[in-house]
Amino acid sequence: MENGPLVDACAGAKLFRGDESPQDASRRRFLSGAGLLIAGAMLPEARAAQNRKSPGSGHKVVVAIVGGIRRAESFSPEGLQYIPHLVSDLGPDSLLYLHAHNDGVTAHFNAISSILTGNWQRVDDWGNQAPATPTLFEQYRKNLRAEAGDTWLVASNKALTSRIGASSASYYGPEFGANVVFPKQLMLMAIVNALRNGRTRDMADRDKVEAELETAMAGSNYEGLGWNVFDAADQLDPRVRTTIETAIADFVHGGGPTSGDELTFFMTREIMRKFAPSLLVTVFSDVEVAHFGSYAMHLAGIRTADRLVYQLWQEIEANPEYRDKTTFLILPEFGRDPDGSSTNGFFNHRADEDSTRDTWAMALGAGVGQPAIVERPIRQVDLCPSLAALLGCRPLESQGTSLPELRG
Ligand SMILES: [Zn+2]
Repeated sequence: MENGPLVDACAGAKLFRGDESPQDASRRRFLSGAGLLIAGAMLPEARAAQNRKSPGSGHKVVVAIVGGIRRAESFSPEGLQYIPHLVSDLGPDSLLYLHAHNDGVTAHFNAISSILTGNWQRVDDWGNQAPATPTLFEQYRKNLRAEAGDTWLVASNKALTSRIGASSASYYGPEFGANVVFPKQLMLMAIVNALRNGRTRDMADRDKVEAELETAMAGSNYEGLGWNVFDAADQLDPRVRTTIETAIADFVHGGGPTSGDELTFFMTREIMRKFAPSLLVTVFSDVEVAHFGSYAMHLAGIRTADRLVYQLWQEIEANPEYRDKTTFLILPEFGRDPDGSSTNGFFNHRADEDSTRDTWAMALGAGVGQPAIVERPIRQVDLCPSLAALLGCRPLESQGTSLPELRG
């Protein structure tokens, strides 16, 4: 694409290329191992999915949704330094919608549900109600008779329950829903159960494990709510669950720090390699550490997301199940509140202002005819009908309008 406006805007700005500390490398190795373990335990039959032909158009869609990121810390002259991969590695080949508006509820569950249904959802903010209209997962599976293994959602965010995978719409629902995985919750559950079941004598240091658990739980409680680590696993096959719990407990007593998004990334990649689903959504939430008020950690979360979406794109390009037939979409759920606002600026995302509502979306791959920067504003609900068309679904009943630039 003519990246001129962006590159000009940051001319002279040194793009950040974070040096990795030995600690980071060790953490990444741990998370990579944990991701492999979880995926390996969960997906024993997945190898059969290799060479399975995708129903419909044969087109695949991978969506990476990142929590709340303001324009000030992303696609603005002062923000480009935090997203070097989006700007320099992905940007030139992408279709970048510079203004993708969230005109709905700027809370996590409603925002993600709106993106995945193409209709502004106004259900419970904390995921206690399913989306009211069919998700793309259900449309795809019902329209094209796709099997359950063909649609997945992997999320770091505990505010999403398994209800994100299927709507309450009649004629649709969980029967056509996605597999929903919360790797971090599975890992926490594994530790809790290991402690409960008295396997701690196998663990090198029980105090250390408990401290690890406390840190991990505090670290994911971004919204300041209590939550139950057992909720997420309700719908998993008990045999699979036990295997996972054992595997992860074994791993965790070695003592590794946790970052939700790293683990989510490794899980996502394993699912791609083993299941090769046609429709895969991954939700990164490290940026939501902003709710704790640390601007530095929020920026670190943006850099992590920037790196992980780039690594996802590299996997799409390297994986023969995905290469040349996949559209990859990256977008934040919303922005965050403006500095000086009554809601504490970047901490939150509730202000009815551009800083919170005006975000962006980037598409790469098979559905992108011509790389371009599109300055015309779009709405987040316009994306779902476009993705549905790429997958070969019938047109959705959507408040959004299909985007002419995205086509297979
Ligand atoms: Zn939040």
